[in-house]
Amino acid sequence: MTAYIIINTRNCVGCWDCFNACPKQVFGKIDFLGHRHIKIKNASGCIGCNKCVQVCRHGVIKSRK
Ligand code: SF4
Ligand code: SF4
Repeated sequence: MTAYIIINTRNCVGCWDCFNACPKQVFGKIDFLGHRHIKIKNASGCIGCNKCVQVCRHGVIKSRK
């Protein structure tokens, strides 16, 4: 969770579209031993631009507003 978004990693497929779309490097990658999903690495960097919300095709990232 950041001030602007909340994530539910259960549905994450690890496509990294949100990682690539975020202008503030908010996301990090978990990718080991069959675990492949996004995580929030830099919550305080989030500016609420919603690019990640728009790009995720699996409903993982929701706007809190
Ligand atoms: S809302 Fe914008 S700044 Fe915040 S995590 Fe998503 S893409 Fe990054
Ligand atoms: S865009 Fe969605 S499915 Fe792809 S890595 Fe990000 S949260 Fe996971």
